[in-house]
Amino acid sequence: MPTLPIRQYGDPVLKERTQEVAEIDGTIAALAESMIETMYEAPGSGLAANQVGVQRRIFVYDIGDGPLAVINPRIVESDGEWTYEEGCLSVPGLSWAIVRPNAVHLVGLDLDGNELSLEATELEGRVFQHELDHLDGILLVERLDPDQRKEAVRMLRQRTLDLPEADPDGLATIFSK
Ligand SMILES: [Zn+2]
Repeated sequence: MPTLPIRQYGDPVLKERTQEVAEIDGTIAALAESMIETMYEAPGSGLAANQVGVQRRIFVYDIGDGPLAVINPRIVESDGEWTYEEGCLSVPGLSWAIVRPNAVHLVGLDLDGNELSLEATELEGRVFQHELDHLDGILLVERLDPDQRKEAVRMLRQRTLDLPEADPDGLATIFSK
C-alpha cells in the first residue's frame, strides 16, 4: 500500500468535522492499511483520516501492541487528569504539555464491523482523545492554555508564511529578490 502525504497545520481539511463511515467496504480497508503505513513511516503513534485528506471518521493507532483501525469512534466516558507532552504529525517538531482526562472509554467499530469497546489510560487514552479531536476538526493547539497558545500561534503563523503554498502566484518570491 502506498503511503499518503500528511496534511499540515494551515490546511483547511484539518479544521472540518469528518463524516460517519456509512459502510465498511474494501475502500475503507485499503484506506486503513495506507494510513497505518503512513503512520509508521512518519513515525507516529496515531493518525486520523483527515490528516491524509479523507473526511471520514476513522483513525489508526499503535502504541506498541500492534496497529488497530477504529471506525466511527466515540468517547463515552472519561475520568481523571493527566499531563503529557503532546505532539502531532500535522504540527511537526513542536510539542506542548497538555492536561486532559487520564482514563477514557472509547467505542467504535473495527474493519470487520465488530463493535469495539476499549478502556484506556495514559498514552493510549491520550492517543484516543487526540485522534477524536482531529476527527472533530480540532488541533492540539486549541487545547493549550492562553499563554502557550499565543506563543504557538505566533510560531505557526511564521511557519505557514514560509510555506510555498502561501504564495500561490509567486509574488513574494519575485519581490524578495
Ligand atoms: Zn495529531
